[in-house]
Amino acid sequence: MAGSDAGGLESTGIVFTGDDGELYVRLNWTKRYITLAAISTVLGLAFKLKDPENLLGKGEDLGITCALVPSDTPGVVLGRRHDPLGIPFYNCPTEGHDVVLKLEDAIIGGADGAGRGWRMLMESLAAGRGISLPATGSGSVKATGRIASSHAKVRKQFGLSIGKFEGIEEPLARIGGYSYLLEAARRYTNGGLDKGAKPAVVTAIAKYTFTELARKAINDGMDILGGNAISRGPRNLLAHAYVNIPVSITVEGANILTRTLMVFGQGAIRCHPYTLNEILALESGDVKAFDANFWKHIRHVVRNLFRALGLSVTRGRLASVPASGISARYMRKISWASASFAFLADLAMGTLGGNLKRKEKLTGRFADIFSWMYLGSAVIKRYEEEGRRQEDRIFVEWAMEYALANMQEAFDGLYKNMSVPGLTWLFRGPIALWSRMNALSHGPSDKVGHKVAVAIQTPGEQRDRLFPGVFVGSDETEGLARLERAFRLAHDAEPLERKVKAAIRSGDLPKQPIDKLVNAAVDKGVLSAEEGKVLAVASAAAADAIEVDAFTLDQYRQTATTIVATVADVDIGTEQLATV
Ligand SMILES: Cc1cc2nc3c(=O)[nH]c(=O)nc-3n(C[C@H](O)[C@H](O)[C@H](O)COP(=O)(O)OP(=O)(O)OC[C@H]3O[C@@H](n4cnc5c(N)ncnc54)[C@H](O)[C@@H]3O)c2cc1C
Repeated sequence: MAGSDAGGLESTGIVFTGDDGELYVRLNWTKRYITLAAISTVLGLAFKLKDPENLLGKGEDLGITCALVPSDTPGVVLGRRHDPLGIPFYNCPTEGHDVVLKLEDAIIGGADGAGRGWRMLMESLAAGRGISLPATGSGSVKATGRIASSHAKVRKQFGLSIGKFEGIEEPLARIGGYSYLLEAARRYTNGGLDKGAKPAVVTAIAKYTFTELARKAINDGMDILGGNAISRGPRNLLAHAYVNIPVSITVEGANILTRTLMVFGQGAIRCHPYTLNEILALESGDVKAFDANFWKHIRHVVRNLFRALGLSVTRGRLASVPASGISARYMRKISWASASFAFLADLAMGTLGGNLKRKEKLTGRFADIFSWMYLGSAVIKRYEEEGRRQEDRIFVEWAMEYALANMQEAFDGLYKNMSVPGLTWLFRGPIALWSRMNALSHGPSDKVGHKVAVAIQTPGEQRDRLFPGVFVGSDETEGLARLERAFRLAHDAEPLERKVKAAIRSGDLPKQPIDKLVNAAVDKGVLSAEEGKVLAVASAAAADAIEVDAFTLDQYRQTATTIVATVADVDIGTEQLATV
């Protein structure tokens, strides 16, 4: 059982010679989690391999090794399942007691693969973490976007679509902005992976940020849908995503650890032009190489300091960038952020040394700046690659201002909390104050947020491009297809509603809900018969789309098992609960 501390795994393998003279490995493990293990035909297992008789000629402790274990091998214990938040996929505990396998067949890579498991795990994660969970994250945000924007248009309160209220516009704009941003970063990241790169830091950023933004978007969606999101049943389009999202947050490196340890912890050394070389030179005792890198490193720090100062005073205008227009504006700001980031990162590494990795509140903020620079770069890349579509400027502006404001928040936190011997007062006082006064961004404006919210509540090509790849279905009597139909009809009925409202204001029609006035509006010639039909169909579709599932007591007992179990525990009758 290892969990976050993958290197601390306790599963073991011992190499020995069998009676037939062949090499075998005897495996023992107790693992809490392997997805689908109980119904698998083969298990993938990482363990610490020992070779007490040095039969492989590589020493006694071979280290982490990966093997494939047929599930029906004697000694493999399977069968029990966990219940991951009610989601119908099996996650399972498994044990292995003296499981014996031919070494060459079991170990991935045969005898050569012995002791190379850590590298295999890291390489697989370096690629895998950039694919499945980021796709799930971006898909969840886009699906939430379709659901929440349709619902916001269809659902009326106080005589208006709720999406017209500024309070609802805010979460709608966030969901729209995240959709553009995450789709941009998904394509950017997968483009790199397609070319064969295994960028461990980038994929850690993707795993962490995509799932975190998905969590935020789903929460926003839940707020927008109100009771429709709370009432479970086939009509509920969001509850499963809401329940599901912690699984994405936890697996393949739980998010807190990914943010605080992996993104900056790995990135600071791997992405730094000199630190890794310095460490390697120290390890190999190569004084000359160390000196060369050390002095280059010092020059690098001094250059970054002046660059950061110059870009901060000019708000990035000094940076030369290969673009024009809105892209240039934001590239300059990212250059400015990156110069400050590079200088501060060196300062933190220089002053804290090995202690930095324990200062997770600092490394987390460095990770945030680094991650938002990456996501922001992906947004600019998408805008440029798609030919600078003018109608998408609002998404770019929203996403970039949001990214820069997140960077700013992390910088503010660093200035307020970093200790720099002899200079802490300077960072916590004048520099922190200057940074706040001269912020990278204060976040997207209300105006741009309004435009994003309106755009995603307008059916058409732009909305479809923002939320592509979401399963809508073709049966318009159920699921998202029903909601999207009501959404389109609500859009078409808007000008007709305006006519009816004008007639109410002028006293030609009584003050009543619009859906109750359709016949009267036709009778009085406010609407034509055809228009009356359109409005009636739209009203009926809206009423159907916002309906929630209701159950008989027996049905309820079957679906709400958790609540029933809780009620039974405290000895209150279910009927009483239902009545309450
Ligand atoms: C549904 C499901 C399927 C899974 N499938 C598999 C599978 O197929 N194969 C497999 O090997 N594993 C699998 N896992 C295990 C999964 O990888 C672990 O749950 C995950 O790594 C977290 O470990 P943990 O649950 O032990 O939590 P812990 O390690 O106890 O972590 C708890 C919290 O502490 C934080 N934390 C831990 N260490 C640090 C640190 N140094 N700094 C900051 N924060 C820290 C974590 O981020 C987390 O928030 C699965 C888990 C689940 C729930």
